[in-house]
Amino acid sequence: MKFVGAHVSAAGGVDQAVIRAHELEATAFALFTKNQRQWKAAPLTDDVIEKFKRACEEYGYSSKQILPHDSYLINLGHPVADALEKSREAFIDEMSRCQQLGLSLLNFHPGSHLMQIEEDRCLARIAESINIALDKTAGVTAVIENTAGQGSNLGFKFEHLAAIIDGVEDKSRVGVCIDTCHAFAAGYDLRTEEDCHQTFKLLGDIVGYEFLRGMHLNDAKSEFNSRVDRHHSLGEGNIGKTVFSYIMRDERFDGIPLILETVNPDIWMDEIAWLKSQQKKQQAA
Ligand SMILES: [Zn+2]
Ligand SMILES: [Zn+2]
Repeated sequence: MKFVGAHVSAAGGVDQAVIRAHELEATAFALFTKNQRQWKAAPLTDDVIEKFKRACEEYGYSSKQILPHDSYLINLGHPVADALEKSREAFIDEMSRCQQLGLSLLNFHPGSHLMQIEEDRCLARIAESINIALDKTAGVTAVIENTAGQGSNLGFKFEHLAAIIDGVEDKSRVGVCIDTCHAFAAGYDLRTEEDCHQTFKLLGDIVGYEFLRGMHLNDAKSEFNSRVDRHHSLGEGNIGKTVFSYIMRDERFDGIPLILETVNPDIWMDEIAWLKSQQKKQQAA
């Protein structure tokens, strides 16, 4: 079973995101549980929590179909103690919000060394940040997203993801989300079936599919191996449609949220319908 959707707006309240996903005929969705460009947010009220849970039930979304994303401000590998502390607190708050909403996953970008500490130390810091957050929350898995490797962002190599997982004590509550645009920009080719075969084999060998908790399905405006993060609509960028069809036909991507973060929300409904049609192709064959 494939779960496909998009990162929908939560404007007007998190329950509105559920309705927007339903309108897209999505079987998965992503959302921010607070404004992603601000550090602080008002706590979720009982009323909002109730409305969100009711909407999920009404439209048939279970927690394994929902992949919330944390704030872009958080850097769990920050080299400076005060700033690291601020990020850790904000991350615990994000995890707690997910827990309150009955969600089981939280997707985040690992962090940046800002040219001030070595890669290894930064990766260890990120793992320690995850340990702290897992300790203070329950039932929510920390889902590390691979990055394009812009600036000093870590997570652009599968080895980075494996190193962070290695440092996490509770392996049952850590996972990864692979963004196709980020992977491509980081030098993992996905343009042909053979490229997909190779890249996804590497993912299995280095990280392991038992840790795969979600995928971001994005074509890339950025060039291959450019380390630049620019998403595009499916088939309109430099990756092309092959990989998205490949993912829909491959059972390693069953049962996890497959989320569009493509640039034109007006065509999300068509993109979701097209993705679903690729899966049917295999069943008919
Ligand atoms: Zn992404
Ligand atoms: Zn991106």
